[in-house]
Amino acid sequence: MPKITTLEEAFVHELSDIYSAEKQMTKSLPKLAKASSNPDLAAGFTMHLEETQGQIERIDQIVEMLGIKLKRIKCLAMEGLVAEGEETIDEIEKGPVRDVMLIAGGQKVEHYEIASYGGLIAIAKALGYKDAAKLLADTLAEEKATDVKLNGIAMSSVNKDALKQAADLTPAQ
Ligand code: FE
Ligand code: FE
Ligand code: FE
Repeated sequence: MPKITTLEEAFVHELSDIYSAEKQMTKSLPKLAKASSNPDLAAGFTMHLEETQGQIERIDQIVEMLGIKLKRIKCLAMEGLVAEGEETIDEIEKGPVRDVMLIAGGQKVEHYEIASYGGLIAIAKALGYKDAAKLLADTLAEEKATDVKLNGIAMSSVNKDALKQAADLTPAQ
């Protein structure tokens, strides 16, 4: 990790990290949508891809507003979460059980983002970056809504479908 000595530098580091995370998600979300069998889930991933592009634009706006320069770092946590999603796709055939796992992985991504933006907003406020904090709060709200939406899809249909499929696959005694 590069040397960080000030709160401003900590802010730039954290912003650079989430920027990398969002960029990684723009590549992952189309794959997650394609891998989903539930249409609401596929649509949810596709909608969040559009939101993610807007979130990247908000970070670009903050960079411009504050006259800062992002560091070229890779968010290793998101790299790991993306790899786990790919593992799900490789190891589970398309259907409701895979959908359950895609939702579980998707919620882990949203929670990582919620934690990241929560921390960034706190740092931005401490630094007096009010407009940046406001933009980051808009993104945080989208991440929270996505988490709730994924959970709703699991609870309303996907988990039951997965349970039913498992029962269908069990040979009759
Ligand atoms: Fe995001
Ligand atoms: Fe990270
Ligand atoms: Fe997200």
